[in-house]
Amino acid sequence: MLIVPEAEIGGLVTAEDAFAAVEGVFGAMARGEAYNFPVIREDIGHAGALYGFKSGFDRAGMVMGLKSGGYWPGNAEKGLTNHQSTVVLFDPDTGRAHALVGGNLLTALRTAAASAISIRHLARKDAKVLGMVGAGHQSAFQMRAAAAQRNFERVVGWNFHPEMLGRLEETAAELGLPYESVDLDRMGAEADVIVTITSSFEPILKATQIKPGTHMACMGTDTKGKQEVEADLVARATVFTDEVAQAVSIGECQHAVAAGSLKEAAITAIGKVINGDYPGRTSDEEITLFDGTGVGLQDLAVAARAVELARERGLAIEVDF
Ligand code: NAD
Repeated sequence: MLIVPEAEIGGLVTAEDAFAAVEGVFGAMARGEAYNFPVIREDIGHAGALYGFKSGFDRAGMVMGLKSGGYWPGNAEKGLTNHQSTVVLFDPDTGRAHALVGGNLLTALRTAAASAISIRHLARKDAKVLGMVGAGHQSAFQMRAAAAQRNFERVVGWNFHPEMLGRLEETAAELGLPYESVDLDRMGAEADVIVTITSSFEPILKATQIKPGTHMACMGTDTKGKQEVEADLVARATVFTDEVAQAVSIGECQHAVAAGSLKEAAITAIGKVINGDYPGRTSDEEITLFDGTGVGLQDLAVAARAVELARERGLAIEVDF
């Protein structure tokens, strides 16, 4: 068995590697060659933790396994990340475990890759202003991956907790882009692409605030009850997602579907656009919205790439198992 420790991931897997791995598996999902299994996430009644599994099988890439982990709110006091995850990969031919991979950084990379993929395939080519809603841990990864997709000239940002906005300013500076914190009216009026990455349970952006032609990547809503944008905005947009079943149950689409203003049949898997089987954006006026719910196959795809790179560079630890 090969072990790729968390500490090695940063030196192995780039945002580009994650983009390619996730784009590949989204395409395989849309062709019916890769499946996510039902997600398990439980309140374990200990340490305030939520613990679970995401798993699946990518027949096209011959990648099978699971990501296990969750959220431990007391970890920060122990000097650890609150979100903890580990990926186990199994040999699809024999069922033997063949790799154990640190999953924390990979989670941020694969989540940022998903919204970046949506921007590459759905945003207007002439998009100039990148809008960021959310300034938590994921937001820096999101901004870096998004910024690589278009010739953005500046970044505008908003966060529910203004004291966290420094992260957006620093990340924009690292990318060489001017940054300004704005209110939500300016966000909607100025941004051509908006990434939302918060843990909000109330709509932040309203339908009336978004201008025609905007691409939205809604990445924060991954649980029943969470919400980042008004259901009317989702209903008005042309909607894409990683996995339709998750979008309607735990994604941003859940609210518009429950309200009856969006039909499940109107939501398109982004993999169809990647595969050239669906057009994506069809006009400069259209609002496109990607509902990124996060699927286990994303984790497995980037973990498999990490193992490949670690093996190539002699960084994987080999153990008899
Ligand atoms: P974080 O805890 O570091 O940051 C939380 C963010 O949400 C901050 O911007 C904070 O200001 C904002 N926020 C908190 N409470 C809010 C409220 N009541 N209203 C509006 N905003 C609020 O979290 P993170 O690691 O950056 O993750 C952000 C979100 O992304 C989480 O909801 C997480 O579950 C989700 N996530 C989704 C995926 C996916 O694949 N879709 C993957 C990883 C994380």
